[in-house]
Amino acid sequence: MLPRLAAATLIFCSASAAAEHDPHSYAEPGKVTQTALALDLAVDFDRRELTGSAELALDWHDAAARELVLDTRDLTIEGVDAIGADGRARTAKWKLDARHPILGSALHIALDAQVPKVRVRYHTAPTASGLQWMTPAQTADKKHPFMYSQSQSIHARSWVPLQDTPAVRFTYTAHVTSPKALRVVMSADNAAGHALNGDFRFSMPQPIPSYLLAIAVGDLEVRETGPRSAVYAEPSVVDKAAREFADTEKMIETTEKMYGPYRWGRYDILVLPPSFPFGGMENPRLTFATPTVLVGDKSLVSLVAHELAHSWSGNLVTNAGWKHMWLNEGFTSYVENRIVEAVYGKVQADEEFIIGADELRREIASTPPATQWLVPEVEDADDAASDFAYVKGAWLLRTLEARFGREAFDAYLRGYFDHFAFQSITTEQMLAWLKPHLLDKYPGKMSLDEVKAWIYGPGIPANAPLPASPQLAAIASARAAWLDGQRKAIDLDAKHWNTHEWMYFLDGLPPRLTAKQLASLDAAWHLNGSPNAEIARRWYLAAIQGDYRPARTEMAKYMTRIGRRYLVVPLYEALAKTPEGLAFARKVYAKAKPGYHPMTQASIEKVLDKPEK
Ligand SMILES: [Zn+2]
Repeated sequence: MLPRLAAATLIFCSASAAAEHDPHSYAEPGKVTQTALALDLAVDFDRRELTGSAELALDWHDAAARELVLDTRDLTIEGVDAIGADGRARTAKWKLDARHPILGSALHIALDAQVPKVRVRYHTAPTASGLQWMTPAQTADKKHPFMYSQSQSIHARSWVPLQDTPAVRFTYTAHVTSPKALRVVMSADNAAGHALNGDFRFSMPQPIPSYLLAIAVGDLEVRETGPRSAVYAEPSVVDKAAREFADTEKMIETTEKMYGPYRWGRYDILVLPPSFPFGGMENPRLTFATPTVLVGDKSLVSLVAHELAHSWSGNLVTNAGWKHMWLNEGFTSYVENRIVEAVYGKVQADEEFIIGADELRREIASTPPATQWLVPEVEDADDAASDFAYVKGAWLLRTLEARFGREAFDAYLRGYFDHFAFQSITTEQMLAWLKPHLLDKYPGKMSLDEVKAWIYGPGIPANAPLPASPQLAAIASARAAWLDGQRKAIDLDAKHWNTHEWMYFLDGLPPRLTAKQLASLDAAWHLNGSPNAEIARRWYLAAIQGDYRPARTEMAKYMTRIGRRYLVVPLYEALAKTPEGLAFARKVYAKAKPGYHPMTQASIEKVLDKPEK
């Protein structure tokens, strides 16, 4: 996933990772695990519901076990059948627990025997936390409704009753009916030529964890971008997306050269409406992506590098629980940067790394040390996605690369992906493999204690390697000269700055520029209303901090059009710091809310209800 939403609420406990029960699931995988899922669902846009059944094939591990516990959230259970070895279905007794605000409701199914399959008949709630139902008006083309899922971290349970923990893997098939003229796609084997007849079948033969279950339904067209890649998007967006993501095959080949074969068959990308709460989601075979990276110059396609990298780190080797999320996101951010370096060059890769490292250092300055570990205890699984998991995790791998040399580290990483392929692991399992296969193999380069200090300690060790960027250094001096009044905004020589250079320039502005400074910057470089979502985000943040009111109209349009949390939540947070800004934020939110995903709504309501001082 590419959320990069900082300031998560991390709850610090102890480091010991004894018997690893996933605290974010009611399932009991020690007793029984689901090995295959067969979904049969109807998509009802009028009622905003998925209706049908989920059949789970079971592998029993505990001879005494007679109960199956599944995760659910806001599902209406209509009935449960136990299916015997003879294929006969018998009604099973079940009980749904009271709803926990974060975890949902455990579904207890009482069984007379250890049956091979269980079928749950159910329908979802219109408010399902993992689904967004959009009216035609909320889509790009305004003709048809649209629905999509976001299951990570623990939202699969809001649309499928199952063991919703990354520790358990299963294959799946699905039969989905929808209104005709719409296309259904899933994190499975999509067929570009499928008739739009309202009747779709899917198969995902590789075992995946539940958070990679994904579905979308809408007016979707397809464009091939390579021999094993295509783009799905609304008709008005699909050509632009295919141009932006034209380097996909090059990226796949590059990654295969470094880390071994791509094991998922096709790699397609679905471009969602702008309300998608994340940058991207690595749903296997079909990455879900925000349209806010369609800039026209490929400058933000590191998003594709990131989601593609998850085909190795995350989807192939998976964190066994959400506190180990850095195994997914830190490894992926490292691989992402390596792909960017190979395809777009070292200058861009280094710029991207430095921008991320600067952001992490700002985050370190504003968070308690106890929350800066790579393996934090989090109350809500969604809060595990912090800059620490992403940037600090990647920085640790960059340190290992620097110490052991690229050749040795690449060979190690390729072996790691092979060894743990299609498994879910903890940080301790990663360390147990790292010690003999890298640290002890090349003694004296980096000790296990040093690695553990990164993982179980705060901040960033002082000797962490950071690349040098002459381009960014020149921008830092130009910025200083402008802030000192030695240079005019128009003389900044920014005509050839790329997206990252602009991001770096704006990130380094001090808070509370004067209205005169902001006006001169805007007059020279037309930042207000910038079509580049990353540049616009930073400009509006500077405008809020400097209370530059002429930016308000375009800012409100931006906040209403886009629902990606990383882009809009920080603006609400900055506005909420003054009573006047809070009132403006509330006004914008009232208008923008119907277009936001439930997760974005929840994040913003947290800010508006309890603004920080
Ligand atoms: Zn990710």
